[in-house]
Amino acid sequence: MSLRLLRGPFMALILAIAVGLAGRWWWSTRTPAGPTNVVLITLDTLRADRLGAYGYAGASSPHLDALSRAGARFDDAVSSAPITGPAHAGILTGRYPARFGVRDNASTPLPESAVTLAEMLRNNGYDTGGFIGAFVLDRPYGFAQGFQTFDGFTRVDSGSEANAERQGQTVVDAAVAWLTARPADTPFFLWVHLYDPHTPYAPPDPYATTFADRPYDGEVAYTDAQVGRLLEAVRARDGGRSIVMALADHGESLGDHNESDHGVFLYEPVIRIPWIVAGPGVQAGTVIKEQVRSIDLVPTVLRATGLAIPPGLDGVNLSPLLRGEARTAPPMAYAESYYPRLHYGWSELRAVRADGWKVIDAPRPELYNLVEDPGETRNLYETQRPLADRMIAEAVRVDQEFTREFTAGASGDAGRAGGPVQPDEETLRRLRSLGYVGTQAPVLPAGERGPDPKDRIVAQKQFESQMSDAIRDLRERRTASAIEKFRRLTTVNNRSYDLHQFLGEAYQTLGQLPQALGEFEYAALLNSRATAPLLSAAEVHIGMGNLEGARKRRDEAAAIAPGSFDVSVVSGRLLESEGRFEESLAAYEQAVRVNGANPRPRMLLVGVASRLQRYDLAAEQLRALLAMGYQPSRTQFALGRLAHLRGRLDEAAQHYREALRLEPGLAMAAEGLRQTGRD
Ligand SMILES: [Zn+2]
Repeated sequence: MSLRLLRGPFMALILAIAVGLAGRWWWSTRTPAGPTNVVLITLDTLRADRLGAYGYAGASSPHLDALSRAGARFDDAVSSAPITGPAHAGILTGRYPARFGVRDNASTPLPESAVTLAEMLRNNGYDTGGFIGAFVLDRPYGFAQGFQTFDGFTRVDSGSEANAERQGQTVVDAAVAWLTARPADTPFFLWVHLYDPHTPYAPPDPYATTFADRPYDGEVAYTDAQVGRLLEAVRARDGGRSIVMALADHGESLGDHNESDHGVFLYEPVIRIPWIVAGPGVQAGTVIKEQVRSIDLVPTVLRATGLAIPPGLDGVNLSPLLRGEARTAPPMAYAESYYPRLHYGWSELRAVRADGWKVIDAPRPELYNLVEDPGETRNLYETQRPLADRMIAEAVRVDQEFTREFTAGASGDAGRAGGPVQPDEETLRRLRSLGYVGTQAPVLPAGERGPDPKDRIVAQKQFESQMSDAIRDLRERRTASAIEKFRRLTTVNNRSYDLHQFLGEAYQTLGQLPQALGEFEYAALLNSRATAPLLSAAEVHIGMGNLEGARKRRDEAAAIAPGSFDVSVVSGRLLESEGRFEESLAAYEQAVRVNGANPRPRMLLVGVASRLQRYDLAAEQLRALLAMGYQPSRTQFALGRLAHLRGRLDEAAQHYREALRLEPGLAMAAEGLRQTGRD
């Protein structure tokens, strides 16, 4: 039976049976009548040992601590990746993120083919609402799948996406408003993502003052207060029928192992996460010592709601543990970090954690006994070679399985989907002309791992600080100075993907298109999973009038992220350059559908719609831009021009006047007003 048929009265009946019984099937103790709601709270960058519930004396986390006392706490929970996007992909699908090719933030989106918890619950009659605090979890990256209401960013300009953040208060306000407005007679799934503990550590007052010397703890305290507000609203609405899961996506190094934040290493401060479960039938004060993984969340929630667990998940149902049972053989946990390879040209890292042991597969491998040495200070690799090598072989096998699975499912050439890409002759020529090829191969050859991240992390601090300095120059239009600084950094690490991407952007700003192209193509070689350098190269090709070159790069990007926001924008530009305006319009509309928060495709759409004399469409987009607060005086002027073109002189004059009110010196608006004869 198709899921479409499972709607309406028939669906309601099925639900009443399935969900009503579930309460009794699941945790054995008394369960309030009615269906089980699901509340998922993901706490970004929240290190387990910084919560009171996990033993931190300096904590100010009363709400999460109380939730833990009222329910169960997993004492040994681990993430699948040390960065937000991949870690959340694992939490929301119950599968390891690498199976989908999700190995970096804001890069390969979680594909449509992935089935998320929101989709599973939605297909079974749940109301679904998602509320997020970081742009890397917004619509363009696939995390809105299955949510009827998805509350992300309303305005993000190109170039600022990666760092865009919404404060916890804003996210929780929106979630509470949704909870309050929704009908009481259907079960709901609510996902709230709080990004605040992520860098920069800058909590609002009073937390800034109270925690002046411990700003990270201040962010945790602020986040906890927001959790408190949210839980209060849930309790007021749900009659005690919600299962609440609060967990971190990953932790934070806070200087341990020489890492300041997270993203490179797989040590415990980042991989071990807090995870608290409360709800009907969960025994108060339960502490579960067994190793569990955040990929176990989906099957556990499905079991709690009485729904079938689909085949093919990597995670397993943890409800026996919540009932107080133990497992004979808890499954191993796998985690990986591809960030160092994709961004710095260093080796990727893989970890396997099982039976109190943890191996890190690095060029210089590491083995730790987590029971005796939870701080991972004594590398036992040399003394325990057989065990370590068995665990490393398992890590490599798992990685290869994921990579193979993803590569087989990906459209386009296998090189882009999986391993390193080899430069063509033209690209090599361009790189040589920039002075790059000769001393060092541009990319790590297949099978070569590159430097061990732990050998580079200390020097990297200085590199990052110089990068930030150069990026600031670029953003503040000191472009020549930025280029000089970026070029100097290529002599320190020529395999930094971000460095070449920014350098390309700098050359592009100055109109030095061949140089820009060389940098973008170099960046594309360094990071075969990123669409940004391919699409930047395509835009430069368009600027140079080389539409064939543009099409080639656009196609390569489309093979990585078909239908994505960025691919749609560049497709629109390419089609527009080819004079295929109707198709160009459709591409921009697709981009607006994927991410209405970015003004760029709306502006491009206004241009093409005007050219096609689709004035209503153009006006609709301009009004949307106004509502987003995008360049109000210019947008008012454009609305005036549009009305003017249609012979609506009163309306035109009104917009011109508004434009002049907002920007008194705006000559084109004054001229427009004069032409209407209404000045
Ligand atoms: Zn995160």
